[in-house]
Amino acid sequence: MAKSRHNDEERHCVFCGRSESEVPLLLQGMESAICSDCVKICSDYVANLEKASQPVPDKIDKLMKPKEIKAYLDQYVIGQDRAKKLLSVAVYNHYKRINNNLSPGSDDGLELEKSNILMVGPTGTGKTLMAKTIARLLEVPFTIVDATVLTEAGYVGEDVESILTRLLQEADYNVKMAERGIVFIDEIDKIARKSDNPSITRDVSGEGVQQALLKLLEGSVVNVPPKGGRKHPEQEFIQVNTQNILFICGGAFEGIERRIAQRLNTQVIGYGSMHRQQVDKDNLLQYVSAQDLRAYGLIPEIIGRLPVITYLDQLDRKALLRILTEPKNAIIRQYGKMFELDGLKLEIEPGVLELIVDTAIENRLGARGLRAICEKIMTDAMYEAPSSRKKTFDLTLDYAREHLGKVS
Ligand code: ADP
Repeated sequence: MAKSRHNDEERHCVFCGRSESEVPLLLQGMESAICSDCVKICSDYVANLEKASQPVPDKIDKLMKPKEIKAYLDQYVIGQDRAKKLLSVAVYNHYKRINNNLSPGSDDGLELEKSNILMVGPTGTGKTLMAKTIARLLEVPFTIVDATVLTEAGYVGEDVESILTRLLQEADYNVKMAERGIVFIDEIDKIARKSDNPSITRDVSGEGVQQALLKLLEGSVVNVPPKGGRKHPEQEFIQVNTQNILFICGGAFEGIERRIAQRLNTQVIGYGSMHRQQVDKDNLLQYVSAQDLRAYGLIPEIIGRLPVITYLDQLDRKALLRILTEPKNAIIRQYGKMFELDGLKLEIEPGVLELIVDTAIENRLGARGLRAICEKIMTDAMYEAPSSRKKTFDLTLDYAREHLGKVS
């Protein structure tokens, strides 16, 4: 114990035992004192307890209609109309289901079952963006988890139950709130079975995880460790019922087009040549079906629990150009704002945006690469501009080319 604690002259915090000189502030009560650190810890603790035990209304009052949800998505996500529509309907139905299933007055014995969603689409086409955007609008807890970190219980990595730990955290540990939440599981394709023969070896990160995930998707009471992982064996489990939790899964399913093509080919032979003409070979993903997902390595039970399957389009040049300038927080708008804060106007010469997009396409980075390319062009400008006396910064095609290392 520190010497000061033995000094009777000094006052101590009755909670942590530290002396007045060791704490930021000591608050004196009638007979004892407490330090400001302990006051803060206690206050946080009480606030959390209050949040966790807050009564949860049976109904969600403000039901946004699917069209309103989509209009919101439109402000941030370019293209992908089908997926946006589907997601909007799914979220709306989720709310309706909660209101119907949980409200005692409307219990007519008809239980509305949930329709979890699977979004298939190349990387960088907006799956996560869509999930994140919708999260901002939701009145229910929402979390995004990455399926690649999940492993079967007993192996290095996270147990599937940790997904619910995250949701609980989002709900401030209010179980009732968490039980009506939405979970976005990214990279679901990464837990596909690696081999077509399920019995060859133990598949730690594949089929085992899918089996564990199934329990969550189909709706059951799951024991959830409040802090996640197995590192806290002493902690008590929290029981979470996943019946009303909506799961949205996303994955690139790289190479699945081959399986789709194979299936369509066999069908075409079977049904005559008319079908062959109707198949849009450049966008095979639009034909993705449960059968293809099974061939890819998802177990049938999981597919059965993801009844709504949608796909995202590969972003073409036109879409990438729109992404640069149109969304509410488009990259180019952000640069404009950044210059504006320094009292400068950003003027962009025609052709610069096309150059950025073409470079992203060349690098095969899609929308994901746009920001890095812009940064490469703009870093010097952002270094110089704040000290400049000019009122505008002209981003010319030559300047952009030069900074991208491209000689005109
Ligand atoms: P993924 O489909 O791999 O989840 P993301 O949603 O993470 O892709 O996209 C990466 C980034 O690319 C986003 O943060 C966003 O800036 C941009 N982006 C991708 N698709 C779109 C889109 N359809 N509309 C607007 N921006 C997009």
